Amino acid sequence: MRLEFDEALELFDIPIYELGKMADEIRKERCGDVVTFVIDTNINYTNICVSKCKFCAFYRDDGFVLSYDDILDRISDAVKHGVTQVMLQGGMNPDLGIEWFEGLFRLIKSKFQNIHLHSLSPPEIVFLSELEGLSYREVLEKLKNAGLDSLPGGGAEILSDRVRRKLSPKKCSADEWIEVMREAHRLGMKTTATMMFGHVESHEDIVEHLFRVRDLQDETGGFTAFIPWTYQPGNNELTSTIKEPASFTHYLKILAISRIVLHNIENIQASWLTQGFDVSLLALYFGANDFGGVMLEENVLRATGKKIACIKVEDMVRLLKTTGRKVAQRDTYYNILRWF
Ligand code: SF4
Repeated sequence: MRLEFDEALELFDIPIYELGKMADEIRKERCGDVVTFVIDTNINYTNICVSKCKFCAFYRDDGFVLSYDDILDRISDAVKHGVTQVMLQGGMNPDLGIEWFEGLFRLIKSKFQNIHLHSLSPPEIVFLSELEGLSYREVLEKLKNAGLDSLPGGGAEILSDRVRRKLSPKKCSADEWIEVMREAHRLGMKTTATMMFGHVESHEDIVEHLFRVRDLQDETGGFTAFIPWTYQPGNNELTSTIKEPASFTHYLKILAISRIVLHNIENIQASWLTQGFDVSLLALYFGANDFGGVMLEENVLRATGKKIACIKVEDMVRLLKTTGRKVAQRDTYYNILRWF
């Protein structure tokens, strides 16, 4: 069912258990009783970033840039652990032009033909476009030719410029984020979409975000999944005003609303990295059908000081089986690779 703006806003007034029931019914109808996960890693190639977002604990003025060899070593290790998807994400570093990425992607694909490069989110594409004087399409074409397969939907935060001006005024606008995704989809590249909430946004901002994603999906059909998560305070500027993360009930509520509003996106992902395992398992009853990645490497959330346990595939499978659903490893396009 396609909701109008006012109808979507009214969802916020519905008790959480009813919202959960509505979202779970949609999940069951769309995805059946299967819960999926991917074996992935997230390598941060640089933490030097001129954007200085107020919610970010990761960036540094005098940070690092990984060498090609270092990145290849990390991928090689990850491949030994069964990784199928490699995310490369970093800051907006003016020293890294498009040739650096083209060279890196070509090298990676020459050594690891079977891995899927799910890398660089829209703010990095917008930054490269400005740095090189190229259109988004030209940047994406060059990167695709070098081996980039798909884009993660990071850097969306809330797709409302009222919020973006407060949190990340140097980062791409909501229109620019959408336009990069539109071009990627037109080039045949699938992407995900994310939403980071639990900071300065209003209910209207959340609905605006969901509607922008929903409308682009109507146009292109290029989003494979939607991944909402909560802002994590700690070691960043925003922590001086927002000291606590959103409650787990707020997370579950927004997750359920996302499932209900995004009728045209098949997969909704739980975020165990931000919510922990218990709440993420509960999320599977509030509209989520996917548990995200094993994430062999993760640095951005750890920079906030949050303790994140590593998880082995067998432990994730054991946890997911407690839901009584069928458990499967998937690839980046949500094709099933292995049943457990
Ligand atoms: S969130 Fe990304 S763009 Fe913003 S400061 Fe951190 S690394 Fe830079």
